[in-house]
Amino acid sequence: MGTLAKGGVMKKNRKLLCGTLIVILAALLLASPVDAWNSHGACTKLIIGDQEWLKAYENITVTPWTYEDVDAALVGPNFVLQYIEGKPGTVTSAAAILTNYADEPDWKMDQDLNLSPLQALTGGSQGWRHQYYGLGWLRFGVAPSRAQYFFDLAGKANEKGDLYWTFRYLARAMHYVQDTTQPYHGVPAPAGLIFKGIGSFSTLMGSATNHHYNLEEYQGAMVARSNPVFVDTLRVSAPLDTTTATSPSWLCRHGAYLGRPLVRKLWPLETTFFGDSLNSKDSWLFDESGLHVADPGTDQAAYDLEISVPLGRMSSYTKTLLLLARQQFGL
Ligand SMILES: [Zn+2]
Repeated sequence: MGTLAKGGVMKKNRKLLCGTLIVILAALLLASPVDAWNSHGACTKLIIGDQEWLKAYENITVTPWTYEDVDAALVGPNFVLQYIEGKPGTVTSAAAILTNYADEPDWKMDQDLNLSPLQALTGGSQGWRHQYYGLGWLRFGVAPSRAQYFFDLAGKANEKGDLYWTFRYLARAMHYVQDTTQPYHGVPAPAGLIFKGIGSFSTLMGSATNHHYNLEEYQGAMVARSNPVFVDTLRVSAPLDTTTATSPSWLCRHGAYLGRPLVRKLWPLETTFFGDSLNSKDSWLFDESGLHVADPGTDQAAYDLEISVPLGRMSSYTKTLLLLARQQFGL
């Protein structure tokens, strides 16, 4: 074969590989769940337990939303603005606002929107806004800019002296930062498996969804059972140095970057702990009824230790976000 013809074939092969990758990613991600840690509120309550400065904000009056001019980003057609602590005029606290609204971006705020022609690759508009997938040099999702968007709005609310919306916008920014620390929000499966899965992508698709869901259900169930490994890591993780971690967008990009290699470690531990049903094309969820805190030296204990790494990062990055807010808004 002549050099020219060879070059043409290589070019064609490269194109084919890229195309195949996109199709596989699309199929994978279409099935991916978009909740992250289970739940943001329960974890946030533990994370902010050591934030003594929040005690200065124990009496905050709920105010109505009056940010039409600066908060113009599209919201889902079925999103309803809720006031959990009571209607405007009710007195609440910063800790309650952060805990109550940590999950708000999952309440249809980002669903059923047309944001990008590529959003199908992340399972739709909510996936697009809550994730930051990376495969090679490709990136899918806008979680970093969403975190930044709400952080900046918190600053604007603070300038107006509106503490209620300062903390509510901060809770929303926190959600996206926390999402990106969940390793399966950075990549749906180990990259090696994505390539290998070219021949049987329905199994790969099912397994990726099962790993993602079971990790979250298990982590939530263990926080609910006060698993000391998870509770302690959420409580004691320290914030980063804000001369390096300079913005919410940085926290998201860095959290996803550090989380991606962990998927390679979590995946086999999940297969060992949950069993082979996990790696099937059919959706499968572990039985929570007999679940208890791990005995030392077991597969479950090994899994707990691996989860505690990104879970600690969820805490650390949340505390860094709060530190940035204090430094930049003078809270
Ligand atoms: Zn989310």
